[in-house]
Amino acid sequence: MASFAETLIDCIEAALARGDRRLVALHEPSFGDDDWLLVKDCLDSNWVSTAGPYVSAFEDALKQFTGSPYAVATNSGTAALHLCLHACGCCYGDEILLPSLTFVATANAISYTGATPHFVDIEAVRLGIDPAALRDYLHEIVEWKDGRAHNRSTGRRLKALLPVHAFGFPCCIGELAEVADEFGLSLIEDAAESLGSLDKGCHTGLTGIAAALSFNGNKIITTGGGGAILTRDEALMHRLKHLSSTAKQSHPWRYFHDEVGFNYRLPNLNAALGCAQLRDLPQRIEAKRTLAEAYWTAFSDFAGASVQREATGCRSNYWLVCLVLEAQHRNQLDAVLSEAHRLNLMLRPCWTPLHRLPMYSNCPRSSLHCTEDLVDRLINLPSSPFLAPST
Ligand SMILES: *Cc1c(COP(=O)(O)O)cnc(C)c1O
Repeated sequence: MASFAETLIDCIEAALARGDRRLVALHEPSFGDDDWLLVKDCLDSNWVSTAGPYVSAFEDALKQFTGSPYAVATNSGTAALHLCLHACGCCYGDEILLPSLTFVATANAISYTGATPHFVDIEAVRLGIDPAALRDYLHEIVEWKDGRAHNRSTGRRLKALLPVHAFGFPCCIGELAEVADEFGLSLIEDAAESLGSLDKGCHTGLTGIAAALSFNGNKIITTGGGGAILTRDEALMHRLKHLSSTAKQSHPWRYFHDEVGFNYRLPNLNAALGCAQLRDLPQRIEAKRTLAEAYWTAFSDFAGASVQREATGCRSNYWLVCLVLEAQHRNQLDAVLSEAHRLNLMLRPCWTPLHRLPMYSNCPRSSLHCTEDLVDRLINLPSSPFLAPST
């Protein structure tokens, strides 16, 4: 009789258009003629670094695609997050609320400002921060001082809320915005994984003060390395551009920097690649949605696990398709992963939740019941757009 792991992997193989691929990666970048063309144009022009026309062209294309009034390109998603937090005044002595179930960069960006990450729980439908649990928790721990919310037990100011749209699933951002409002928290979104994901028709990242995107090699589109900030606030956009380019005052020849800035601007060479990649984004999203659907169908008769679907009213980019093992099969995780790797299927477990990493294990946190329940039964399936069966 086939084992649990073997039956599960048969379902995966049934969904994939694997062709003669020996190895199926988790998420591979893809490049076409436009990518070569625009990168070559950039090299031919000699404008490869922080000045050049592709940076603003890329920002304009991002604004167009997302509907964001402003966009600022940066050299990584982590830099984008750090800059947002810095510009919102997050610093030593503050606590920033975030999910424990996210990529480590979310917490690292907080640490760079000197502030302390404070982990809160998620809900199982969208895999983002649970707004109801957050509200209850804050009512329990908040002490108001001079009209500002402080953590009663540490005495530190609760300064910002940093929700994540994990794996491309839009989190409950509307309700989180209400909680942020009630407790006077700055709302900054980590939309690094959710380019192209919509909630009630609105692109993720447009609810908070600002949102960070990432164009790292494993994301839905890539600039090699890179990121961007979306914001509706014109003054903030100018400040972010200023801070990201060493806080240099604009002048034909004089070097004058009016504060401690950062070298976080996206180079023109990477932006050229971004312009070409964005042209292909709508087709990629369609392909990934088709792939998610194929996985869903392949697992519909399998009782041991199910494919995570987008919530009602949401449209996910399905950056990484998530398979959730039924609770009674959680001890099968390692067997599934090792059998898959033996067959060159690069399945991945979920991230180690950040409160279990050494540098974050002493950070304040709420009950993480749902997080703990999900982490050892959540598997990311190979999700490159070209793996979708042709329709
Ligand atoms: C990729 C990612 C980041 C960081 O982006 P980089 O471009 O790799 O610095 C931040 N948060 C989340 C949730 C991510 O997935």
